[in-house]
Amino acid sequence: MSPRPQRAPEVLPRVERGHRRPWRYALLVYAVALTVATHWPALTLGAASPVSDKLVHALAFGALTILLWRTGWFQRRMTVTLVALAWATLDETTQGLPFIRRHVSWPDGIANGLGVVVAAAWLWAAAPVGGAANRARLRVESFAFDQLWTRPETWIRLALAGFVAAGVGVIVPVRLPGTTWVGIGALIGALVAGTVLAISWRRACRRLDAARPCFRCGASCRGTGFDENGVAACPVCGVTLRSTQWRTPARASSRQRLRLLAAPLVTAALLVVAAFVGLTLLSAVYPRLLRWPATARLAPRIAVAIGRIPPDIATIVDFAAALIAMAGLGRLYRRRLARSFDQGERCRRCGHDLRGTPAPDGRGRCSECGVEFVVE
Ligand SMILES: [Zn+2]
Ligand SMILES: [Zn+2]
Repeated sequence: MSPRPQRAPEVLPRVERGHRRPWRYALLVYAVALTVATHWPALTLGAASPVSDKLVHALAFGALTILLWRTGWFQRRMTVTLVALAWATLDETTQGLPFIRRHVSWPDGIANGLGVVVAAAWLWAAAPVGGAANRARLRVESFAFDQLWTRPETWIRLALAGFVAAGVGVIVPVRLPGTTWVGIGALIGALVAGTVLAISWRRACRRLDAARPCFRCGASCRGTGFDENGVAACPVCGVTLRSTQWRTPARASSRQRLRLLAAPLVTAALLVVAAFVGLTLLSAVYPRLLRWPATARLAPRIAVAIGRIPPDIATIVDFAAALIAMAGLGRLYRRRLARSFDQGERCRRCGHDLRGTPAPDGRGRCSECGVEFVVE
């Protein structure tokens, strides 16, 4: 039996506001920039556009969705998705205002919407999963992540790394077919910025172990003594602290990871096979559909309509479908990982396999590092 979760808020409003403030400013700046860029009178990227402007549309509104979520104004990911979709629609339709001298383009609108949906799928994939043990394990990482973005140097470092890497990417002589210098530059910039973020995040997790802030009120608990069970109360807000709660979560070993990856990989393979089988069946069935009175008129119309989809829209739909499938598989993997921690199969501190460790009345102690674990 695990204790009932506390009724008190997980994070005090003051701490929460501190974590959210930088994102609210970022959203403000971004919203102004986005609106100006999409409503600049008579602006056309046109044929001179170095990257597919549908891709730019999708990325712009995907980023907007993530910023909206990070502001903490919305409790549910579904609300954020609907707000972002409404925003995207409004942004595209107001381009039809006469004095803007631009035009409403449905392919742009579709690209906007797909960007929002893909971002929403990734937010869902990254959401906390599993039971109490796994969520406690993830708490360190999410607190470190929230704190990381309250430091201005994080924003500056990422922007610098991204821009410098993008600049280097632009002059790299290697070009993949169908890419442009801006595309390659942006890709390299994003990869480097992502790597810098991952390293900074990891270091922020380790800093927590030294700083020992209360996850609820933010007060430092460095001097707090713990009882023999490793439990104490926060000296400021009184929330229960565990001596191990600031430990960076254990990484699964590569063998464990491979075992957990098996199901998502098999699912991915099945999806690909199903897609190919579906396409093959369709081409086999199509001549029959033409002969069958009920579908003789409809089938060619659908085929023509699909054929009329602009290639850049078709590409972005394919991309979106692949990214949404990846989000689903990522979530599947994270759920499996969560289960191994929740069922007390693995130590949340050192990753040691606990399946042979005794846990009378649902509680036990890791034989490797001594941390307490709970079997749900
Ligand atoms: Zn506290
Ligand atoms: Zn352990």
